[in-house]
Amino acid sequence: MRLTTSPWGPVPSRLRTLLFNPFGAATAATVAIWATGLFSESALVDAATLKSPVGAGLDLPLGYLLFAPWFALVDHMSLLSVPQHLSIVCFALLSIALVGALKRDSKWALVTSLGFLIVLGVIVTVGTLVPRPMARIRVSVPADNVVVDFHSHTNASHDGRKGFSLAANQMWHARSGFDVAYVTDHGEGQPFAAGRTGLAGGASTIMLRGGEFVWRGRHVIGLGAPMNTRALIQTLPGAVTGDSALRPGPDTMIVATELVDGAPRGLAQGERERADIFAVRDRWALAFVGSSNQHGWGFTSPVWSVAAVPNWRSLAYPELDHRLQQLLTGGGKDVRVLARRRTAEASTMLGLALTPVNFAVTMIRTLSPAERVSWTAWVGGIALLATLLGRPQSTTADARKRVPLDFGDLKPAYEPAA
Ligand SMILES: [Zn+2]
Repeated sequence: MRLTTSPWGPVPSRLRTLLFNPFGAATAATVAIWATGLFSESALVDAATLKSPVGAGLDLPLGYLLFAPWFALVDHMSLLSVPQHLSIVCFALLSIALVGALKRDSKWALVTSLGFLIVLGVIVTVGTLVPRPMARIRVSVPADNVVVDFHSHTNASHDGRKGFSLAANQMWHARSGFDVAYVTDHGEGQPFAAGRTGLAGGASTIMLRGGEFVWRGRHVIGLGAPMNTRALIQTLPGAVTGDSALRPGPDTMIVATELVDGAPRGLAQGERERADIFAVRDRWALAFVGSSNQHGWGFTSPVWSVAAVPNWRSLAYPELDHRLQQLLTGGGKDVRVLARRRTAEASTMLGLALTPVNFAVTMIRTLSPAERVSWTAWVGGIALLATLLGRPQSTTADARKRVPLDFGDLKPAYEPAA
């Protein structure tokens, strides 16, 4: 069998012909897409039990499914912490450098590295700023559930994105499947009538008021009218232990702690300090909540709090607010924290180095069957495009190769007459 060299060493020519053509690669990718489906898991995880939740899943709108590979990539990238982002960038740049060294082509390595960084920059910028279809939660158990975000911001916060108005905040929550969203700007925030709906494009999410401030040295969310709240939630990122903040005050007390917070540093801390958060919850009989801590960046909801409130749709807004605060004050046993399954934080350097593998496995395993169909169509489409584009190119290359013809061995067909 003829051997051909590749950056990874000699490749048997038949295998090379089989795989290194668009349709061979597409077939291999399609097999991988469907084979990994055998090991699929829910795109959601119950953050307290770490099990797939019963009676809850993600609904993906048609617009999402049409561009499923691109949106899955951006969604999972949005859920990475800073060390995870750095690990993936380092892995990619080192891989390019290694291939460049094997090819003995430093110019190729430099150009490819720059290309990678530019493409990554475009993906992150577009994914963060350009509105796109969002994955939304669908909950069927219990029937009378209300999906709540206890912590979010608008442009009234100093660190909120400039264009992230109250209406934009409501639209973000409506498209992620939230029934209720607390707007918890820093300081006074922007005044609005709590319970207002229909602010943006018929969005039905009920907006309630809260605030984020420092209480006894601890960053907290207060539910209800800002600066006049009694039920506090301690937030991430920030300190989670320490009795001085957690001991109940006469009127005001911390009644819940975030188990998941959608800020990148919050996501990482929630996993890293999970044992501490559980210990604090048990010692002070706190409730667990999950919060987006959304400031206007990105279109991926990291977590939803699902509360059981019978007949909540018939409640007036102050009453709904009151009932939610009551649930948390009572230990929150009727509140489930359902998070988007994300690339796990690493606890060792080796684990951190393996983040890119972990990222790919997590993304592929959590695809729904409908997403797999979309991925297959994209793979087939790209293979077709590559074949169509590749054909004239190779003909030109072959023609170019044929130009310097060597007539050295040709003999004149006849001997000139003497
Ligand atoms: Zn916040």
